[in-house]
Amino acid sequence: MIPVTKPFLPPKQELYALLDEVYERNWLTNSGPLVNLLESEIPKFLNYKGHFSYVNNGTIAIQIAIKALELTGEIITTPFSYVATTSSIVWEGCKPVFVDIEKGSCNINPKKIEAAITPQTTGVLATHVYGNPCDVEAIEVIAKKHNLKVIYDAAHCFGTTYKGKSIFEYGDISTTSFHATKLFHTVEGGALFTNNKDVAHKINYMRNFGHNGQEDFWGIGINGKNSEFHAAMGIANLKHMSSVLEKRKEQWLMYREHLSQDFKVLELIDEPGFNFAYFPIYFKTEEDLLEKKKLLDDNHIYCRRYFFPSLNTLNYTESENVFEVSEQQSKLVLTLPLFDKLSKENQLLIIKNLLS
Ligand SMILES: *Cc1c(COP(=O)(O)O)cnc(C)c1O
Repeated sequence: MIPVTKPFLPPKQELYALLDEVYERNWLTNSGPLVNLLESEIPKFLNYKGHFSYVNNGTIAIQIAIKALELTGEIITTPFSYVATTSSIVWEGCKPVFVDIEKGSCNINPKKIEAAITPQTTGVLATHVYGNPCDVEAIEVIAKKHNLKVIYDAAHCFGTTYKGKSIFEYGDISTTSFHATKLFHTVEGGALFTNNKDVAHKINYMRNFGHNGQEDFWGIGINGKNSEFHAAMGIANLKHMSSVLEKRKEQWLMYREHLSQDFKVLELIDEPGFNFAYFPIYFKTEEDLLEKKKLLDDNHIYCRRYFFPSLNTLNYTESENVFEVSEQQSKLVLTLPLFDKLSKENQLLIIKNLLS
């Protein structure tokens, strides 16, 4: 059986040594030493210079970002992402206004953003799909012109750089996920990145119930904290991330070499900065995809229709427009197995099945 992904696990002893410390201290959560260590190590690893806040998942990171930037009314967003991108907007009492995507990258199409702006629009929430950067320059110009805040859902972007800078530098806030299925994980986890000191301050009290000391509160907050156990997994994993990233690059390039004649593959925006997080292929028709997927399933190779369906079709979005590119791409895309322990033999087997 070949799954679409398998979480990376560090050598047991490395994790257990950290957990022994947790037992010694009997300090399990609430800004413990391992959480603080992770908070200083991750930005170093990523060469990220701004403010970094570790939280308990990537969805709460988006929700806190929307709250911290005080977005209300309408938020322009992409229909081609994981459901959490849209559900967070609705959960925060805002209305998602979808804008179609570009075919090559599957990222939001900046040329279509301005037409979707209304007097109620307060922000843009866009996803760097598959770890491949959005057109951040074009989005910044539009946001400045219309006084909109920008949040990037960078859940796929651990290790991605754009023009030599961490992708997390872009936007008013970038969020990410450290869920077990992501390239780097802390079992469950997520983070917010911002270059704005005041916004960072707000994020940090918001993720801790608004506490300012034991008996004083800055304002409203939620429980967005993460624990020493999660941080331990993160610290143990982080030591292996350079080699995980290198391995992924090899695997990704091998898929491309064998498959790009027969399938449309992802167009990379900045290849030297890419983190090789996902390898999607696009079929010519949905029937072709379903037929091939069945063949792969029968051979115990499990690919995923990621992302499907297009988010404008969710029953709670009130969106009646058609988003041609997103709806089409979501029907044609299949994401292939890609994880550290995927052997070369198994990868060749997947390729053989796809080309058969
Ligand atoms: C995984 C993911 C999320 C949600 O992150 P969690 O940590 O699972 O809450 C949000 N957006 C995108 C694009 C994702 O892939």
